[in-house]
Amino acid sequence: MTNQRPTSQVLYETALQHIVGGVNSPSRSYKAVGGGAPVFMKRAEGAHFWDVDNNRYIDYLAAYGPIITGHAHPHITEAIVKAARDGVLYGTPTELEIKLAMMLKEAIPSMDKVRFVNSGTEAVMTTIRVARAYTGRSKIIKFAGCYHGHSDLVLVAAGSGPSTLGIPDSAGIPTTIAHEVITVPFNNLPALKEALERWGHETAAVMVEPIVGNFGMVMPHEGYLEGLCSLAREAGSLVIYDEVISAFRFHYGSAQTFSAFPDHDAIQPDLTALGKIIGGGLPIGAYGGRKEIMEQVAPLGPAYQAGTMAGNPASISAGIACLEVLQESGIYDRMDGLAAKLAHGLQEAADRNGVPLTINRIRGSFSAHFCNHPITNYDEAQDTDGEQFGRFFKLMLDQGINLAPSKYEAWFLTTAHTEQDIQVTIAAAQTAFAQL
Ligand code: PMP
Repeated sequence: MTNQRPTSQVLYETALQHIVGGVNSPSRSYKAVGGGAPVFMKRAEGAHFWDVDNNRYIDYLAAYGPIITGHAHPHITEAIVKAARDGVLYGTPTELEIKLAMMLKEAIPSMDKVRFVNSGTEAVMTTIRVARAYTGRSKIIKFAGCYHGHSDLVLVAAGSGPSTLGIPDSAGIPTTIAHEVITVPFNNLPALKEALERWGHETAAVMVEPIVGNFGMVMPHEGYLEGLCSLAREAGSLVIYDEVISAFRFHYGSAQTFSAFPDHDAIQPDLTALGKIIGGGLPIGAYGGRKEIMEQVAPLGPAYQAGTMAGNPASISAGIACLEVLQESGIYDRMDGLAAKLAHGLQEAADRNGVPLTINRIRGSFSAHFCNHPITNYDEAQDTDGEQFGRFFKLMLDQGINLAPSKYEAWFLTTAHTEQDIQVTIAAAQTAFAQL
């Protein structure tokens, strides 16, 4: 049952000559799983992909999160086609933007005002600018292993200790910029407290993925978000939630309104960055927050942010359609049920074959780590068997199961996955574990 992918191989070699690294985002390369040609897909529908050699795949990548209703969902497709027919870009305001803004505000009440942008990166980047404008401070505190897009300030790694200034994570980022960032471990309030004691008076914002999606799916410990918010506020810093992954992922709302956190009032952020799901698969980002903070933004205030493509009718229409689908009752419970079955089946298959596996599941998504210890922070997520994951990834791919090519990425269920997809995936995993 091993598929053959000769056309992908040829296309990859051609792509390498014209596109840097052959891919338009480094996470699409197979560098982290031992190299080789990535699969070139040509069509997707529901939970399935077909590649250029006509192999079929069950997809758990979901385009890194946005495709929560499955590929080419008819309601979203119809909205995109209508938007295309009506003209894709106006450079003027439209009523559609108000509709999506109101839908977001209703689901995420900490946002009094919203602004649409084109990507999660832009959304995060601008929340930082706005927080700096509002507080008149320049530093930000972030958490090791959380990913916030590729803008300068958030591509900064921890220095040598939890309370030291950052070092650039990428070439091309000046150390002067990295020195504006402090990185501390997630799920560790004393480390945050220490950083705030030292740098708090200069810190514009504490930026966090309230439920982490970038070193696996990781829940904050009980009381962690409450503690984070109260420590930040004591220091006069704003709290920014990066909910680019977590919003509309686990329920119709975001981490800040998730039933797993009983005291919603204690965990409300000042600013929130959104992306992925809210665009239904088209490029989008959004940020929003408290009125007086958002009024820092031009044309009302001195913090400048703009965009030719921002709020374009196609992305906004797809976003509205996607949220409409997600409002159907039972959608999230169904994904939760399927994810539970899949996670259980994977765990059993791993155990049967003596492969250490730790699964962190949150509703319809989970991460599977090749290790025996719990994953609660980035250090623990790094301390897992990447080489074994790489072999597992390829054995699954050969059997028609498409996962993200990184040991840190989540498996995403969509509304399109079926019981049969789950059973086929568990059987493939059994075969893969047996061969590791
Ligand atoms: N924040 C988080 C939490 C993300 O996971 C990502 C992308 N994976 C981003 C920001 C950046 O979003 P984009 O790729 O749309 O720029």
